[in-house]
Amino acid sequence: MTLSDGELRARIVDVPDFPTAGVVFKDISPLLADPATFVAVVDALVEQSGPVDKVVGIEARGFILAAPVAYHLGAGFVPVRKPGKLPGPTHETSYELEYGSNVLQVHRDAFAPGDRVLVVDDVLATGGTAAAAVRLVEHDGGEVVGLSVLLELGFLGGRAALAKAHPGLPVHALLPY
Ligand code: AMP
Repeated sequence: MTLSDGELRARIVDVPDFPTAGVVFKDISPLLADPATFVAVVDALVEQSGPVDKVVGIEARGFILAAPVAYHLGAGFVPVRKPGKLPGPTHETSYELEYGSNVLQVHRDAFAPGDRVLVVDDVLATGGTAAAAVRLVEHDGGEVVGLSVLLELGFLGGRAALAKAHPGLPVHALLPY
């Protein structure tokens, strides 16, 4: 990465009690809006990856990072989306949140068996979202070769949860918190 860790962190804003009370939301909008930090982050995510066939982006902020990473790796981009957004036949999986549950979907024909797939998201928190995306890829016979995120909220234990659910999965975070 050509920019320092501090230069990137300076463009991530903590927003207390968003979207609900008690959550400190990491707003990456200033980092995305600045040409130097946006380029540095995309380049760093690309450098961490080996060759892949597809890059998965998780709705919605994952799309912003995954699409340029796919372009630079010469890979296809696959969106993993919330229910009701994808027009074709889908697979879906659900996962538990602190209160309630979430569902994610992917098009059934998104992966060919043996596809090497990198999953990209903005934040790794408890790991539930990333684990759900990994399940969707593997359901179709794709091989998840790594998860790359911009921010990891280490105190929420996502890395350990992923290691339990998907042993050996490489997890890369550019900025640990
Ligand atoms: P989790 O499933 O708990 O790992 O949560 C990760 C997903 O929720 C990512 O797609 C993030 O966009 C979002 N997320 C979770 N916590 C935060 C946070 N503190 N700030 C911004 N986004 C978050």
